Amino acid sequence: MSACVDFEGDVSQPFAVNCGVKQGCVLAPTLFGILLSTLLWIAFPLPNGIAVSTRSDGGLFNIARLRAKTKTITVLLRELMFADDAALCSHSEAELQGMCDGFNNACYKFGQTISVKKTVAFSTNAPPPHITINESTLNTVEDFRYLGSTASFSGNLNREVDTRIGQAANLFGKLKSRAWDNKYLTKVRIYLSCVLSALLYGSEAWASHAHVERKLNSFHLRCLRKICGVTWSDKVPNLEILRRCGTTSLYSIPKKRRLRWLGHVSRMDHSRLPHQVLYGQLADGKRGRGRPKLRFVDVCKRDLKLFNIAADWEHLAQDRSAWRHKIHQGAEKLELDLELNEFARRQKRHTPCQTTAFICAVCGKHCKSKAGLVAHGRAHRR
Ligand SMILES: [Zn+2]
Repeated sequence: MSACVDFEGDVSQPFAVNCGVKQGCVLAPTLFGILLSTLLWIAFPLPNGIAVSTRSDGGLFNIARLRAKTKTITVLLRELMFADDAALCSHSEAELQGMCDGFNNACYKFGQTISVKKTVAFSTNAPPPHITINESTLNTVEDFRYLGSTASFSGNLNREVDTRIGQAANLFGKLKSRAWDNKYLTKVRIYLSCVLSALLYGSEAWASHAHVERKLNSFHLRCLRKICGVTWSDKVPNLEILRRCGTTSLYSIPKKRRLRWLGHVSRMDHSRLPHQVLYGQLADGKRGRGRPKLRFVDVCKRDLKLFNIAADWEHLAQDRSAWRHKIHQGAEKLELDLELNEFARRQKRHTPCQTTAFICAVCGKHCKSKAGLVAHGRAHRR
């Protein structure tokens, strides 16, 4: 391969490229793909990995469809590769060690080496695995960052959300002097495209609990308040802030993204892995005691209900523009519901109680509760 440098119209003499990743070469990605698929073919002769039984017909939320033994197929999750980032997954430490050995041997045969420094071992809800490659032990980590998202030992979202909020807050801080202090810019647009996109990166696949949503929303409103130059002492309600900025709360935006992704995966070809994983469940393994963990499918079901999308959503999702329109409508409805709730709550809080059992002995004010009466009593004692 040879290359030349093009600078302001002047082209240099061609020179040979003998090392490096050969960036800009059109053939290299294809060759790399061929090499790696052959390598994987040799590396894993055994059907090791995580088995998922799947069936794409019969509706996503119908649990009974996966009980039919003849209609389900089993797919194997073994290596998750994205360009030169690779992850091997397994249910047990011994199996993972076997897979690593196989992969390492195949790499050796093809003249590739695994960088032990850059490779880590990671487990969820299991003791940290002890994996060796070429007689050196891999570092074990509690949080693993893969393609920008953080997977944590406990398997929940807290660490990922904290990282996202941290990154978004960092970006927000960096833009302070350039954007937020400037009064001639459309700051909300900048916020939505720079800060919010960093905050919600990868949120399409989150199975988020209500407390995560509240956390994200309070960060969102804190940022918007700073942009508007409003502090808490100004006593401006959240609804007013959202109205001024012409945007919505962070309850509907992640839901919208999630449902858009759900539609995208359901439209995918049935032989593709994301589709098979969405429509499947682990072939073996038990659920622990206690409340079942929230899954992506459960969250999608909840979102569809909130967005008032009918049970035949799979049929609707086949038409991309109709699906988008439906999600948009649903998000508007959800926002309206939230607004009305918030308004009613505020109204209730600000209307004085007519008659209660908790009456102030000094001024005769009717308080809502005993605690309220005690708090009110302090005002007289000052
Ligand atoms: Zn009183």
